[in-house]
Amino acid sequence: MSNIFHKIVTKKVQMDLIYEDDMVIAFNDINPISSTHILILPKTFIATLDDIQEKHEKILGRMLFVTAKIAKQKHLNRDGYRVVINCKQHGRQEIFYLHMHLLGGRKGTKKFY
Ligand code: 5GP
Repeated sequence: MSNIFHKIVTKKVQMDLIYEDDMVIAFNDINPISSTHILILPKTFIATLDDIQEKHEKILGRMLFVTAKIAKQKHLNRDGYRVVINCKQHGRQEIFYLHMHLLGGRKGTKKFY
């Protein structure tokens, strides 16, 4: 698969690893839009949020759990942070491999980039 996030998950392309377990992986975004910008991905390929199925419930739960855990580790929880999933063209999704953005470290604007 030529998808860049698939290559990252399978360790064919390097990334700045933040967290990894049997279900998810988290790493720094290559082009951060806030002082903390971390991507959280499932190890199982899912193209978009629109492709999730009931069998993915546990993975999705883990993604959220890990996101909150990283936010605590990075001390983002005190002032808050944003978690974003872009879905398909109108959601401005660029990489078609499901991922969540953890954004922290700046005053929030309601607009997402
Ligand atoms: P999307 O618009 O699909 O929700 O977000 C894709 C994100 O992936 C962007 O924030 C972009 O900067 C990031 N990204 C694209 N290619 C790479 C890469 O090769 N490595 C890392 N770490 N992030 C990437």
